[in-house]
Amino acid sequence: QVFNFSSGPAMLPVEVLRRAEQELCNWQGSGTSVMEISHRSKEFIQVAEEAEKDFRDLLKVPSNYKVLFCHGGARAQFAAVPLNLLGDNTTADYVDGGYWAASAIKEAKKYCSPNVIDAKTTVDGKRAIVPMSKWQLQDDAAYVHFCPNETIDGIAIEEQPDFGDKVVVADFSSTLLSRPIDINRYGVIYAGAQKNIGPAGLTVVVVRDDLLGKARQELPSILDYQVLSENDSMFNTPPTFAWYLSGLVFKWLKEQGGVAELDKRNQAKADLLYGVIDSSDFYRNDVAIANRSRMNVPFQLADASLDSLFLAESLKAGLHALKGHRVVGGMRASIYNAMPLEGVKALTDFMADFERRHG
Ligand code: PLP
Repeated sequence: QVFNFSSGPAMLPVEVLRRAEQELCNWQGSGTSVMEISHRSKEFIQVAEEAEKDFRDLLKVPSNYKVLFCHGGARAQFAAVPLNLLGDNTTADYVDGGYWAASAIKEAKKYCSPNVIDAKTTVDGKRAIVPMSKWQLQDDAAYVHFCPNETIDGIAIEEQPDFGDKVVVADFSSTLLSRPIDINRYGVIYAGAQKNIGPAGLTVVVVRDDLLGKARQELPSILDYQVLSENDSMFNTPPTFAWYLSGLVFKWLKEQGGVAELDKRNQAKADLLYGVIDSSDFYRNDVAIANRSRMNVPFQLADASLDSLFLAESLKAGLHALKGHRVVGGMRASIYNAMPLEGVKALTDFMADFERRHG
């Protein structure tokens, strides 16, 4: 059996893939594929509405929030957020906690002068994030943007935002649906689908309805939250197959017991993997415990000359895509919702065996 530790596009639940395979050429007995039918047909609209309903149920999305199914990945949102939310404002608070937050800042600089809050710090020599209470937010900033889970750095911000009236925007790309969240604390959350949601090509945006209608004139209509909302995310042809498949993932999540159950499973997987890393001098993770990501676990071998052997042998053992991002180096295991505990056990058994043979 193969376990795929890719950071994204990432592993999908096998039950979802089997169902999609069965339905691929003959969806609901129609003799066609769901990807061949019109997005405006009543059949597809039913798929789309059901997916939205299941998503809302899973995250208890309040009725004053719109859920949008968009194109363009999370990076399109790096531009969509300022252009939708700045209005006449010339600044927004941007918290820099890692690679993706910094990428959002780079894009925002095209549209405003962001107040950049460098939240990167160290605790006992380990990489960490400055607590939210120390973030220097500006009164005239239109919103505050941060990334709760840095996919590349393996850093998470577990604290829940509580900034009064300030509009909070968060890039949830690599952590959405991995645990319950209080949507009411946010003005906008967004996530590229290709980690915990479904196939690449779809981006989910949740936006509080009082934030619609403030878009700048130059904002392309396809990124305008109000236009997308008025058109039920069908202003143009949406990524229908990714939407359908994400809908199957939402149903799977409900069958598993919802995000509260996934929260427990994700904690158990992360505990197992970090436990093995911490109990050995052969492996190390250099993120402070309070900021360790449960979704993306980077780890280094004490002897980096063994990296390529580790990768070759792990691949042979059916453990795929463990190479760390070039910015961090070493290894990275992404253990999103679809990764079963058995996958993490297979990885930790392999790690122990590799250490025995090469330590
Ligand atoms: N934000 C985060 C946290 C990510 O992990 C990624 C991609 O891995 C992105 C943004 C960029 O997403 P996309 O490739 O969908 O634009």
